[in-house]
Amino acid sequence: MECWFCLHGYTNRCIRGKSFGSLGFDGGQAEYVRVPFADGTLQRAPTTVDDSLLIMMCDIFPTGYYGANRAIQYFESQSHELDTINADTPMFQLQELKDCVFVCLGCGPVGLCSILTCLTKKVGKVFAVDAVDDRLAEAERWGAIPLKLGRDDIKAKILEATDGRGADAVIELVGNAPALKSAFELVRPAGCISSIGFHQGEVPFTAFEAYAKNLNINMGRAPARRVFNDALDVLVANSDKVREFVTHKLPVSEAAKGYEIFEKQQARKVVLVF
Ligand SMILES: [Zn+2]
Repeated sequence: MECWFCLHGYTNRCIRGKSFGSLGFDGGQAEYVRVPFADGTLQRAPTTVDDSLLIMMCDIFPTGYYGANRAIQYFESQSHELDTINADTPMFQLQELKDCVFVCLGCGPVGLCSILTCLTKKVGKVFAVDAVDDRLAEAERWGAIPLKLGRDDIKAKILEATDGRGADAVIELVGNAPALKSAFELVRPAGCISSIGFHQGEVPFTAFEAYAKNLNINMGRAPARRVFNDALDVLVANSDKVREFVTHKLPVSEAAKGYEIFEKQQARKVVLVF
């Protein structure tokens, strides 16, 4: 670990960072893998958590955790600031997490990890938005409120749940312009959008619209090494639920089949075993 960003905890913005399996950097599905700058990437595996859970910590769980926690931290910092002002002259009502309404847009495995984080950290109400029934059913079993794209009037439901102000935070996990536009429409003035989706296009609202809403927005990938320990605590607290993410375990010789069934959405997560 040597660049300014890594040294200050922004391991997601390392100036020499690369992703396994991307251009110019081989994938990691092999018996042995060389990891450059391993001190900023690798983490000693805790012996108390089994491998089928730990594999979630490579990517999806820290990502979902970070998407949720960025929004949670925003509200905690707001409360702290108002609390300090109130100590001098009591004038503001604090909004605690238990009074917050969060929306998770996108409930694939990463979205479900975000929902678990929100529920574990006691966000008051968590809405889960997706078009896929079994994802919504799972989110509902855990305590989220399901809203189905194409069936429910999502904006009306959120306004109804917030006395007309809009969602306090929207965690956007889809990564396309329509999803980001929905996030903008659902979030309340001075609320927070935490966008963890991998966007590659234009921002679908204007700077003036963002100004007129006092929008707080945070985008980009998770600093997985930085959030690892906190995310692991949330994972362990929900191990019975997260275990269900792995629907198939295949020998590495059948890796191609694993990709094929994943592509056809017949598998949620496939673990390759050596
Ligand atoms: Zn670095």
